[in-house]
Amino acid sequence: MPLDAERSRIWEALGIGPQWIERGAEDPLLPSGTRASAAPVSAPAPAPAPVPPRPAPFRSPEPSGRAQPAAAAAVAAPQARQAAAPAPAPAASGPSAHEKTLAIFEGIGSATWEELARRVPLCEACGLAKTRIRTVFADGAPGCPLVMVGEAPGAEEDMQGKPFVGKSGQLLTHALEAVGIERGRDAAIVNVLKCRPPHNRDPEPGEVTLCRHFLDRQLELLAPKALVLMGRPAASTVLGTDLSIARLRGVVHEVEIGGRRVPAIVTYHPSYLLRSLTEKEKFWHDLLAAKRLLAAA
Ligand code: SF4
Repeated sequence: MPLDAERSRIWEALGIGPQWIERGAEDPLLPSGTRASAAPVSAPAPAPAPVPPRPAPFRSPEPSGRAQPAAAAAVAAPQARQAAAPAPAPAASGPSAHEKTLAIFEGIGSATWEELARRVPLCEACGLAKTRIRTVFADGAPGCPLVMVGEAPGAEEDMQGKPFVGKSGQLLTHALEAVGIERGRDAAIVNVLKCRPPHNRDPEPGEVTLCRHFLDRQLELLAPKALVLMGRPAASTVLGTDLSIARLRGVVHEVEIGGRRVPAIVTYHPSYLLRSLTEKEKFWHDLLAAKRLLAAA
């Protein structure tokens, strides 16, 4: 059976190109009446990820001791920042690194979206602060019904300060457009880590433990109707499991966010799709599943 025009357009957007394939029963873009029921939602869901305790309340150091323009902190290259950094001060004259870390996360559970966005560029809680160019906060804001979670910024994201703007980001944008989801309006995109790991290595557990304070509050404020977890680091962080993507795909998980049970699906990270073209079809099916979750929410 030949592809209809709509599906052919979607396949082309994914870079697969026009093909002769059978129409899947789960295509929600089909006219109503021809659409099959939703994919199985009774997931053998792993237990929801335990939310790590937020840092204990901390008595803030004097604001003047850590004041730093957010924009300047965001754009300064590491070398420039090191060159401009003042000589280490005596311990008694300023907050220690530990105190600054506690201050960044203090009261984060009540921070607004805007306040969170101001805090992230000031964060030096883990070693990635020394090698990043810019922090990467989010694309989108509260009000986006779908939230997509990735792993960490790459080189292009580190340069621009925005998530998913490199090649994998372009693939993601085209795939979302192909299923009628607009980035920043219908879908917000965040990463587990806000700073790029050197050479795009995997996030280390200690980095995730610290940075997920930001992620947890982002998810609370975004209050999504559905989640898409892209890649194993995002899935393992949010779902609290070490299962592979292959084991986690194809079912709907549940994540507790702000006291609500939010449906979540797991899919491949777009950068993996750049290396494994045959998995693009699965990615496309996962985006359609996310769209069904939104429609059912
Ligand atoms: S990765 Fe997260 S915890 Fe580490 S410095 Fe960047 S913002 Fe802070």
